[in-house]
Amino acid sequence: MKEMFLLKLGEIVLKGGNKFQFENRLKTNVARRMRPFGDFRVYIVQSTVYIEPENDSCDLEGAWDACHYIFGVVSLCRCRPCEKNLDDIFEKTMAYLGDELRMAKSFKVESKRSDKRFPLTSIGISQEIGGRIAEAVEGIEVDVHHPAYTVYVEVRDHAAYVHGPADPGAGGLPTGVGGRAMVLLSGGIDSPVAGYMIAKRGVELECVHFFSYPYTSELAKDKVLELARLMTRYCGKMTVNVVGFTEIQEAIRDNCPEEFFTLIMRRFMMKIAERIARDHGCGCLVTGENLGQVASQTMEAMAVTGACVDLPIFQPLIGMDKEEIVTLARKIGTMETSILPYEDCCTVFTPRHPKTKPTVAQVDKACEKLDFDALIERALANTEMIRVRYHG
Ligand code: ATP
Ligand code: MG
Repeated sequence: MKEMFLLKLGEIVLKGGNKFQFENRLKTNVARRMRPFGDFRVYIVQSTVYIEPENDSCDLEGAWDACHYIFGVVSLCRCRPCEKNLDDIFEKTMAYLGDELRMAKSFKVESKRSDKRFPLTSIGISQEIGGRIAEAVEGIEVDVHHPAYTVYVEVRDHAAYVHGPADPGAGGLPTGVGGRAMVLLSGGIDSPVAGYMIAKRGVELECVHFFSYPYTSELAKDKVLELARLMTRYCGKMTVNVVGFTEIQEAIRDNCPEEFFTLIMRRFMMKIAERIARDHGCGCLVTGENLGQVASQTMEAMAVTGACVDLPIFQPLIGMDKEEIVTLARKIGTMETSILPYEDCCTVFTPRHPKTKPTVAQVDKACEKLDFDALIERALANTEMIRVRYHG
């Protein structure tokens, strides 16, 4: 076997009695993520996920890239397995990492020996392999403090493994250990980032999008589906519930005072999202709200929109600055799509002077002419479920 991947687990190792449940979940998630790239053997030993290609037709590059987006992994490396003896470790090191070593001015070897039956200590392994490399590679020096390149040797139960520096993993907890959440996904910058942040804590996502055709175009809907697809790179496959929202927005426009338009619309969104969330086994709602960003995101406005539902509403971006949110949007790859210039239903019938310090009583009064329940039932009946996935 030539090359394989090792993924190191993050917080899972701290999870005490639940550790095995967490590990099993991660193993299942990794196996599922590898499937589009061929046949891989996936197993966990000593807080490390091992991924071995079973044959030469595996797409190693695709699989390696996908490993960077799996929650629950803190770091990952490609490595070369070897027999547990110094000669083979050295030979495989030169075959596998020789090019990197020949380009480096200095290096060191860092070793870990979890198989305590191996005759040398970690330091002994580093000295021995380091000495042989220094002899074999012309012009290279050992520098244990600031090496240009580090070779890692891990002597584990079944084999030894050599590799270069590890990449950072996606962090967080394995998808699925923390339940399910319903994300209110708009076409903006914020809500995909909010979804990502909740997903990172081990939560499976589903999305709801409110769509006001013809006030918002098919292109706006496609943009939201593309955002959801980009999120699935981290979150795994998702369902997007696209709710026809036109009738509700027109009813608000025709029956309510203008300064309350957005607040009432947001109440409908929360109530409908809650209904779908409960039907689909989601334990919370997630929004991209951010304190003070717009009129509907003052403390008072959020109290009013939140008061009409019982499920908890998570707003992971609540205290972030726009710049921090944008940095994350770029990191997760949603920014470019978010800034495509299609309108959102929030921008339809926007009040000129929205109420920034509403009370629940005022908003209740402002929508007293609406038949909330009937409008919600019709919107639910007018909902399309679309499944999105990253590959295929
Ligand atoms: P975003 O960048 O996520 O659109 P925003 O700063 O533009 O957020 P608003 O438009 O006021 O803020 O929306 C606040 C939150 O309400 C969004 O983050 C999203 O969670 C939800 N939301 C807004 N519009 C929609 C929509 N059409 N469908 C689903 N959820 C929506
Ligand atoms: Mg928006």
